[in-house]
Amino acid sequence: MSSKPTPEELRARLTPEQYHVTQEHGTESAFTGEYVDNKLSGLYRCVCCGLELFASDSKYDSGSGWPSYYQPVAAESVKVNVDSSHGMVREEVVCANCHAHLGHVFSDGPQPTGQRYCINSASLDFDEAD
Ligand code: FE
Repeated sequence: MSSKPTPEELRARLTPEQYHVTQEHGTESAFTGEYVDNKLSGLYRCVCCGLELFASDSKYDSGSGWPSYYQPVAAESVKVNVDSSHGMVREEVVCANCHAHLGHVFSDGPQPTGQRYCINSASLDFDEAD
């Protein structure tokens, strides 16, 4: 379930917002995403390719309006690119498998990492733990 989906498959399967966020570097409006306040136990996967990205035990309430995590499920599950769009230099987080845009990472997160992975709900699919 982590092969690389084609753009045609994604167009057909994703909602317009999921497509825009993951394929066109979009950002959902703050406090509107499906998973902002999700406190259930489970795993968050890439909505495009299914790769496991974040676990609920590293999710915390950042107050930002987007799902926030202090670390990915594994260091190799995401990649970070420098993003200098919109007059800011930020670190963009993408899925390591299919390169879907997920969000950005900032260094104002909680311990133990001090990182804040600020992720669009529209990039994620949640699998609740049994
Ligand atoms: Fe992916």
